[in-house]
Amino acid sequence: MNIAEQNLKADDILKQIFGYSSYRNGQEEIVKNILDGKQTLAIMPTGAGKSLCYQIPAIASELKTVVISPLISLIENQVADLRENGVKVEKLHSNQSSQNRESAWNNFANGECKILYISPERLMTETMINSLKQLEIGLFVVDEIHCVSKWGQSFRPDYEALSKLKTIFKNSNIAGFTATADKTTRLDILDKIFNLEAKTFIKGFDRPNLSLSIVQKTNWKSQIIEFIANRKFQSGIIYCISRNKTEEVATYLNQNGYKASAYHAGLDGTTRDKIQNLFMTEPYHIIVATIAFGMGIDKPDIRFVINLGIPDSIESYYQQIGRAGRDNKPSDTLVIYGLDDLVTRRRMIEQNDNNNEYKLLENKRLDYLLSLCETPKCRRKVLLAYFDETLEKCDNCDNCHNPPLLIDGTILAQKLMSTIYRTGQYFGQAHIINVIRGSEDKKIIERRHNSLSVYGIGKDQSKQFWQSFLRQLLASGHLRINFQKFSAIELTSSGVEVLKNKQKFMFKEIILKGEKKLIRQENKQFDKLTENETSLLNELKSLRLKIAKTQNLPAFTVFHDSTLKQMSHLKPKNEIEMLKVDGVGETKLRKYGKVFLEAINIHTH
Ligand code: ADP
Ligand code: ZN
Repeated sequence: MNIAEQNLKADDILKQIFGYSSYRNGQEEIVKNILDGKQTLAIMPTGAGKSLCYQIPAIASELKTVVISPLISLIENQVADLRENGVKVEKLHSNQSSQNRESAWNNFANGECKILYISPERLMTETMINSLKQLEIGLFVVDEIHCVSKWGQSFRPDYEALSKLKTIFKNSNIAGFTATADKTTRLDILDKIFNLEAKTFIKGFDRPNLSLSIVQKTNWKSQIIEFIANRKFQSGIIYCISRNKTEEVATYLNQNGYKASAYHAGLDGTTRDKIQNLFMTEPYHIIVATIAFGMGIDKPDIRFVINLGIPDSIESYYQQIGRAGRDNKPSDTLVIYGLDDLVTRRRMIEQNDNNNEYKLLENKRLDYLLSLCETPKCRRKVLLAYFDETLEKCDNCDNCHNPPLLIDGTILAQKLMSTIYRTGQYFGQAHIINVIRGSEDKKIIERRHNSLSVYGIGKDQSKQFWQSFLRQLLASGHLRINFQKFSAIELTSSGVEVLKNKQKFMFKEIILKGEKKLIRQENKQFDKLTENETSLLNELKSLRLKIAKTQNLPAFTVFHDSTLKQMSHLKPKNEIEMLKVDGVGETKLRKYGKVFLEAINIHTH
């Protein structure tokens, strides 16, 4: 049979055996490449339709095909699906009776069927290799091929052994498939499995129905509520870095009228199954999870995914947001992150037992994600560039909707870097920002940092501004965090260039959440309180006095007069509204929020 006949047959197989009217993005090229007898490495996201790409050539070919898959459940599913479609196929793995294995092998060896699914440990035995050498194998397919690489996310030594295939079966073609492989991993795969001679296909990563937004963390509670305010009747996932956080967020959402469950590896199996079932069956439910949640979740109508805290890599980010909108309907994603999350991530890498080379790579992965977070360019383009896919048009990310303004921040950067330099490159961001803003923090006085020339040179800018500015300097590689020195922030060589005025630093306009501004405007409007508000104010003042007395504190340390005035005017009804009052931060909310809310509630009813 010549190649043209084979191609014709491939199209028939698509329609007649699988019942599909057309190929999906990328499938046809890959099928053709394999049928042409060329080595193929295909990287396509989960759900893009990888199996078809090798099943069609396997069915079309007169020669035998061996498919290697790392999971018995994957093998079982694929074999069952193919048999359902009337394709003859056999399987060999360790969970079979020896009788079953024998008949499977006989069917394959005598040509009764020409496709064999096999687990790597079954394949790489001497007996199996020798038996296969007696047959003519046209194609080896390596599914989940990233497992061969130490740089991939799920390295398996029995997969690495597959690197021998190319020398043992010199005349056979090889095709590999995976959903996740960055450049380093790809190169490793090409080297190990293909002698660097495979054509690589990267297809189908764009998910145009997902909107992408990444914001700086100011107040996660109000930021989450704002994002899901109109989504009470939708399903969504919120990913957190720690187990404790998942509990905290879930509790908070439940208190505010949402149906949410925490999900993490610390829960027992039954509880986890129960939660997962609820999520799959209830029309609206929010799962607040660590990464433990999501494997094998195929719920088509997840309408939003939030990352509270930065994920560990672009791959993880892509996988997590990718759980939204499988039905191709518009869905939204949001990352809320702060410098503290970044520090947590870096520390997690540092504390891992892995070798230094691996740590370096993990840090690089995180760097790339950080630059996605801080980029002024289209997020989708930056994201797809990571997977080496290019894109013409997006129009569905925060930077495309609101292109950020770039401002010359060289002088500001010099101020901040001088502060870091003058304090010996020895401190974390909190202290540096305290020095530059001229705070009277105890640590500053103790170290006499108030006598430095840089003390207070940045007091015109808010703390939040400096946090965001510092993050942009980190993302652009002018600063780095040193974990050997207790997370001290240091200048890099490019940072020194900026400090010495040899390089400019442009930064993305920093828009601090409008809330405070808004409230200040409201502030003016209630300089004069109504009679009713004044009586509430007096009640709040006596409540404050009572609390202050029991704690032996001056009254204003509980709340300032201006804060109580604002409370009397705004009459917050819940914690979120309470947080909008000037002078109420998370700590005070935790300490006093409840009693003050109660007092306001009693007064207004
Ligand atoms: P992957 O292995 O890439 O995660 P699968 O091969 O399991 O994806 O395919 C995902 C789903 O898409 C399956 O239900 C498959 O039958 C379906 N599918 C694959 N190719 C096509 C096609 N050309 N047209 C329609 N559906 C397809
Ligand atoms: Zn965009």
